[in-house]
Amino acid sequence: MTVLSVSNLEVSYGAVTALRGVSIDVAEGEIVAILGANGAGKSTLMKAIAGLMTPTKGDITFQGTRIDGADTDRLVRKGLSLVPEGREVFPYLSVEENLRLGAYTRPGDVSGDIEMCYDYFPILKERRKQQAGLLSGGQQQMLAIGRGLMAQPTLMMLDEPSLGLSPLLTQEIFGIVARLNAERKVTMLLVEQNAHVALETAHSGYVLETGRIVMAGPTERLKASEDIQEFYLGRSDDAARGEKRWKRRKTWR
Ligand code: ATP
Repeated sequence: MTVLSVSNLEVSYGAVTALRGVSIDVAEGEIVAILGANGAGKSTLMKAIAGLMTPTKGDITFQGTRIDGADTDRLVRKGLSLVPEGREVFPYLSVEENLRLGAYTRPGDVSGDIEMCYDYFPILKERRKQQAGLLSGGQQQMLAIGRGLMAQPTLMMLDEPSLGLSPLLTQEIFGIVARLNAERKVTMLLVEQNAHVALETAHSGYVLETGRIVMAGPTERLKASEDIQEFYLGRSDDAARGEKRWKRRKTWR
């Protein structure tokens, strides 16, 4: 079943058109990665899906209901949660208070969910009384994901979870993302510049370039593409072939 369907989406910042006819589908239970260079439009796509930007064209359907233009609060209640780029934890609140805020849509006892977050991120339990602003970058990313989980989302969107993290921490975070997907059946849509880790973790992916999808498919197929290997994974046989690198052009096949 398709959980999220984006069709022909166009989003602009005044005169700047950031997305030009973008279409993506996210199937239930999948991890889907959006790859793309700086400025490709990845964050804009996430913001439009999360209700933070209103598209000028196209439509977004979540679990069978049109949601383009809907407000974020309603989307969170429907089961769509965004972990934004840069984490944006509440720095003066404790770790546990941040987690509780993630469950604002669900009144009542949420201690079971907090324990579940601590199972996935034991360091947060150790630091539960500490101010979130005093955590390391990786720990803040864990807290941001934990806070997103507290809303019990069907679909979790992660914007650049590896930003500013060491390779080791990035592996750890993506390992937990894969576990959340497998064990808690959370469908994931993630935006990532680190193509290596994204393609290892996701089931399928899309490549976004200057506001357009230029390639899509299962990650196994994307990993096998020469263009992906050269321009996103940094591998090249050019030296062996004696071909000048600058002569290569992306062909997106
Ligand atoms: P990054 O990886 O650097 O975050 P991105 O792929 O997420 O990049 P977006 O942030 O979605 O890209 O930006 C897409 C385009 O929209 C870019 O051309 C960018 O300059 C433009 N843009 C983004 N935010 C604004 C804004 N607030 N005002 C005007 N233009 C913007």
